[in-house]
Formats: sequence, structure tokens, C-alpha cells
Amino acid sequence: MGNPVAHSLSPVIHQAFAAQTGAVIRYEAVLVPVGGFDIALERFRARGGRGCNVTVPFKEQAWQRAERRSERAQCAGAVNTLVLVPGQAVFGDNTDGVGLLRDLAGNHGVELAGRRVLVLGAGGAARGILGPLLEQGPAAMLVANRSPGRAVALASRFAALGPIRASGLDALGGERFDLLVNATAAGLQAAVPALPDAILAPGALCYDLAYGAAAAPFLAWARARGHPAVDGLGMLVEQAAESFMLWRGIRPSTRPVLEQLRHAEAGRR
Ligand code: NDP
Repeated sequence: MGNPVAHSLSPVIHQAFAAQTGAVIRYEAVLVPVGGFDIALERFRARGGRGCNVTVPFKEQAWQRAERRSERAQCAGAVNTLVLVPGQAVFGDNTDGVGLLRDLAGNHGVELAGRRVLVLGAGGAARGILGPLLEQGPAAMLVANRSPGRAVALASRFAALGPIRASGLDALGGERFDLLVNATAAGLQAAVPALPDAILAPGALCYDLAYGAAAAPFLAWARARGHPAVDGLGMLVEQAAESFMLWRGIRPSTRPVLEQLRHAEAGRR
């Protein structure tokens, strides 16, 4: 459930997981009017819906709607996965952060302990990833946002978990990072947040949570500066696998599904 949602690859991913695990499911993208989330969820439950993913702009409403939450969702203040079992409390989780970690560690071999991490953005996606990133023991983490107040509020929410600070995008400089995570929606406007060139340590990895055309400007920015850069398609598949696991109790294999999506992406170019 989201708005907009037509671009979502989640139906393809979950159908692939279902085929792989011998399950018969229906997973559809539902366009929910802004202000209509609670009604849409009740309708879905009444029709027998057993679980859903929630995306922009409803993750905070989903958090409120959940009657029980995982610790990571509780901390994030945002829910992207709801488990709906008849007669049981609505359970909310946030699989974005673990999805990012699995992609970084499993697919790209990135070790976060002792590294300096810069996260750009303080929206719903940043909420989901900051806690899990901090739990990996980075030496420093800075969250920088166009609206500095949102970064400050977010950093204070996660302060107990590790060495996190906040800044405005325009106040960056004088410090270098080993991992730069773009969690802004700038790519949707074909833009890249304005960053000082000296922000990246030698060999620093640049990771955009966005994928497809929305990731292209940031990936081009990073590669033009000689840095490795990856998009968020792997995270999308990994967070979906976590949701599937919550609903079905089986962890699907992500690699063939990611390869299928990369292949389809290459065919579109
Ligand atoms: P939100 O709308 O909640 O937040 C958007 C953030 O981007 C805000 O911090 C906003 O700053 C910032 N921003 C928007 N435009 C610009 C700009 N032109 N320059 C600088 N900063 C800007 O979106 P989400 O956090 O939910 O999503 C962010 C991105 O992450 C999206 O591209 C989304 O597709 C992706 N995503 C990917 C996932 C995956 O599995 N791969 C999962 C979840 C999200 P301000 O506060 O100043 O408005």
C-alpha cells in the first residue's frame, strides 16, 4: 500500500518468492488515497488479507496502526510490514534496515564496524536504517538533511544506540566518510544533494537506496569521482525476503530474484 505505488517491483519479487517456495499467493500494489490508509487496511483485512507492505507516505501511520511491534520497528517509529492473523493483534515490523545490511554485507562484502558512515536524508527510509546501521558498531555516523531540524530529531531518537550526530546538508565539510548512503528522494527529481567533493575517504562506497532511473544521478556523481557506487535494488529484494519470512515462515533465496530483476533492467536499457 502506498501513494504512488504503480512503479513498485514488490509484486514481481513476492510472486518470484512464492514460486520458489511452492506457495500460492496474491500480492498486488494498492494505491491508497492520502488520508485513506486506515480504511484501506480494514477493507484489506475484511477481504482476508494476511499481510502487507507499506510504503511512502504511510509508514508512520502503519506504525500507529500496529498493536504489537518488533523492537526495530518500535525504535524506527515507522513500519513497512504488517502481519494480519485473524484473532491476533496486528503486528508491525520494519525490514528496511536489515534489508540494507544484508545487501551491504552479503552482496557487496561491506563491513561496517569501525567505519565512518554518512547518511543523507531524514525521511521514512532513514528512520528504518539508522538503528540497524548503528548496531554494526560504526566509528561515527552523521545524518545530514536538507531540513536540518529533521536530522537533529532523528539523531536524538537513535542517540542511545551509538555515536550519531546530525547536520544540515549545507554544513557538511571537513570530514571524510567510508560509506555514503543516499536516503533522500532527490533522485526522483533527477537531482543529487549538493555535497563537498572532499567528503569521501579513498575507496569510499556510495550507496543509493533508490533504484532504476531515480538512482542514476547519484551513481553518476559517485562514479565521476572514482568511487564504487551501488543502487538499492539489492536492499529492495532483501527487505522483501524479510517480509516474506514474517508472513510465510520460510526465507526465500534472494540471489536468483535479484539476478532476474537486473536482467530485466538491462533489457530495458
Ligand atoms: P521521504 O519522502 O520520507 O523523505 C525524503 C527525504 O529526501 C527527506 O529527508 C528530504 O529532505 C530529502 N529530499 C527530497 N528531495 C531532496 C533534494 N532535492 N535534495 C536533498 N534532499 C532531498 O522518502 P523516503 O525516506 O521514504 O525514501 C527516500 C528514498 O529511499 C526514495 O528514493 C525511496 O525510493 C528509497 N527507498 C528504497 C528502499 C529500498 O528497499 N531500496 C526502501 C525505502 C525507501 P527534507 O526533510 O528537507 O524534505
